[in-house]
Amino acid sequence: MIELLGQPSSEGIVIGKAFLLVKDSLKVPRYKIKLSDIEKEKEKFYEALKNTKEYFLSIKRTSKQSMATEQLYIFDVYLMFLEDKKFIAEVIKFIEKRLMNAELAVSIVINKIIKSFRNINDGYFKERSYDFEHIGRKLINEMVGNHVEKILDGINENEIVISYDISPTDATVLINRKIKGFATERGSKTSHTSILARSFGIPVVVGVSDLCENVDNGDTVILDGFQGKVIVRPDRETLKIYKNKEKRYISYIKELDKLKDETVTTSDGVEVNLYSNIEISEEIKLSNEYHAKGVGLYRTEFMYLAKGDISEEEQFEILKNAILINNNKPIVIRTFDLGGEKLSNLLPHNKEKNPALGLRAIRYSLRHEDFFKKQLRAILRAATFGEVSMMLPMISGIEEIRLTKEIIEKVKKELIQEKIAFKHNIPIGVMVEIPSLALIADIAAQEVDFFSVGSNDLIQYTLGIDRGNADVSYLYRPTHLAILILLEKILKAAEKNKINVTVCGEIAGEPKYIAELLGLGYRNFSMSPAYLLRAKMIIRRISIKECKNLIKKLKKNKIARESEEELSKFIEKNASDVYFH
Ligand code: PEP
Ligand code: MG
Repeated sequence: MIELLGQPSSEGIVIGKAFLLVKDSLKVPRYKIKLSDIEKEKEKFYEALKNTKEYFLSIKRTSKQSMATEQLYIFDVYLMFLEDKKFIAEVIKFIEKRLMNAELAVSIVINKIIKSFRNINDGYFKERSYDFEHIGRKLINEMVGNHVEKILDGINENEIVISYDISPTDATVLINRKIKGFATERGSKTSHTSILARSFGIPVVVGVSDLCENVDNGDTVILDGFQGKVIVRPDRETLKIYKNKEKRYISYIKELDKLKDETVTTSDGVEVNLYSNIEISEEIKLSNEYHAKGVGLYRTEFMYLAKGDISEEEQFEILKNAILINNNKPIVIRTFDLGGEKLSNLLPHNKEKNPALGLRAIRYSLRHEDFFKKQLRAILRAATFGEVSMMLPMISGIEEIRLTKEIIEKVKKELIQEKIAFKHNIPIGVMVEIPSLALIADIAAQEVDFFSVGSNDLIQYTLGIDRGNADVSYLYRPTHLAILILLEKILKAAEKNKINVTVCGEIAGEPKYIAELLGLGYRNFSMSPAYLLRAKMIIRRISIKECKNLIKKLKKNKIARESEEELSKFIEKNASDVYFH
């Protein structure tokens, strides 16, 4: 038995037989060719280009039903690259001038591209370099006769795929083949492949060192997507423990599934509204399946992070598609929250000492007006297709709201002049996630149509702790008295001014804090669709009366840790089965 540790990237527990997609790193044949073989090598390369293009096209075609436009976009990028004249000329040059075999020529040219991408210290480019690696691999495999689709043909349902890395293309094929889960040596939680797996509920562990060399085809493998564990050839005792866990997990999911069509009402009959937070349109499917009331937060910056600067037309198409598949339910589109930890080198941006406090989100958009206008035009135009609102991130004061509204008015005028249809009366709301805005919530409420509480940032900035820093995560307490005071203040301001208020930070999907928020008076919650059923379960088990009593106790606690314990006890008493242990 070997236990390997990686990063949990999609929750779940599965046991199955291993299917080794790639055992070793690709062996590229290298030899010198004769002058008389140049044409033959060139032909081999052209043939591989043609077949690889056909391969990507066919996956794109067969995935049209199940994938969102933006997920399909990756295939267009691959196809564009395979037609790139510079790339083709470069490979031909190596074949003709250096008398290299075609596989080696492709490998050298692709490696040069990968290297230049990896030299840029930026997550976005690192992810893109993997895309080039996938294309290179596919081309070389074509030429040496290792057709990936043939390898994938051998895969059976319910197998666990083990690989060095899995491209979004291969992940698409694997998901359609109903594999049980996958583990990779490479990859990150935020890669396209991981996001895709999460939206299909397939457990994934990424970043597992030495994975491929420790697994053989057909080995029994346990994948623990909660702890990021891959257990290879488990001993009897471990297998027994995990078989039990897998069974419990299946029945936990079954229990949650029963709630799909149930109403979201507390045990004393108060209705609660649940919405989804989405990063890619694909997640809307799950949101609909679980009967969310709509999308409470569409984080549009992810389309930028996935593709770089995209045209108004492309943004329009992605948003229109999201609005249409959202079944006429409300959808809140947040303007780009770029900068901070969501920064791409594609964005002209000075190096900042404190990016979380820097030129980010609305500040960035206001500084780069043309860039912002492009997005506003796309949102306003797409909004004609459904019940759409627009939300502004990281607002710190009233001036930013007014400046943004001025730009929106300018954009509207331009659209009128150009005779382009758009939604004239789009509601405009703000994220309340900077303490300064929370403190003047009463004034801000008079300027906007709705509030959404971004508790992730609100807690970060109020308590002065970096939300991504594990060393200070113990201080991340949504029950801190200061947070309770701000949450109450925001709610009162919204009620007084008769505007809607939702909570869309992580606490909105966390059973413990749902109880806290209900006690404070919040009734609208927006969360990752994966957490909707869990939220339904806790809400149906508890009463507003109990939650209000809970708040009374929390207010008396001067130490947040004690309040956290109080909340845990409350959950244990009322819904100990809401979490999977
Ligand atoms: C938040 O800050 O709570 C929020 C929902 O926004 P994001 O997590 O995208 O910063
Ligand atoms: Mg935020």
